[in-house]
Amino acid sequence: VGFYNQKAIDHYTGAPIAVKVDSASEAEWNIYEDLFITATNNLGEMPRAIVGDRGFSIPKVFKRNTEQGVASVFPYRKVGTRKRPDEDNEIHDRHGIPRCKHCGGPTRFVRFSKANPKPRLWYRCTLGTTGGCKKDQTVYCERNWKMLLPLWRTDDVYMALRNAHQRYERVHHHWRTRYRVGADDNALRPKRRGAACQQLRANAALVVEWLRIMARQGWLGSARRRDCEHTIAPAGRAYNLATTRRVLQLDQPYGQAAVTLGLGPERPPAPLPQPDTG
Ligand SMILES: [Zn+2]
Repeated sequence: VGFYNQKAIDHYTGAPIAVKVDSASEAEWNIYEDLFITATNNLGEMPRAIVGDRGFSIPKVFKRNTEQGVASVFPYRKVGTRKRPDEDNEIHDRHGIPRCKHCGGPTRFVRFSKANPKPRLWYRCTLGTTGGCKKDQTVYCERNWKMLLPLWRTDDVYMALRNAHQRYERVHHHWRTRYRVGADDNALRPKRRGAACQQLRANAALVVEWLRIMARQGWLGSARRRDCEHTIAPAGRAYNLATTRRVLQLDQPYGQAAVTLGLGPERPPAPLPQPDTG
């Protein structure tokens, strides 16, 4: 799990700001709760967003984050046999973008409030077809914690963080090969039993890792070592999602309101299958 704050630099390097070693048999939710508290204490303030993998992509985690005003950046996770966790419906589409209540069109983010009395989103229709479309609309995030997020999936920041996730995965790999933290192989696994020695190893690795980061960022006395700028570009992904949404016709009105106004179908039409490129 990665914690993103504008002030913290961990999202540049993918280095964790807290390391906790847990048994693979421990429930993800319990691990998450602990890690969240530790990381918030370390940051000294609430993170703005949290990047994680599929394991944490559960409604409880989304709910907890949204209630704290923290954005969740987790991949979709299959629910049952359905291919997508949530299809396009009257409230929101498959990317969690709320649909206009008046014309069924796509909307843009206006604001988010974590309490008054419950987490809530305000948004506005991007099409402006009817009079009502020109006013802000609102929805409670509890209608679907996993889909209605404080930071929308079409947002550049969301995209950049989503992009950053592969770096975190890479870091897990480095941590195994460099420091033997979280070894998933019998040859690397410590001979000592219990989690304590693994936690000690992880803590020591974190100190080394921070020295490495400081050397790279030029914080160890000489700026000459700073040879590269680490930034994460959102553009590619944002563009891809915008294209996908056009192909899926999610940029067009759909739903009851759209049918009534004669603007679109009840559900967005299924896109034509992509040609098999082999
Ligand atoms: Zn509208």
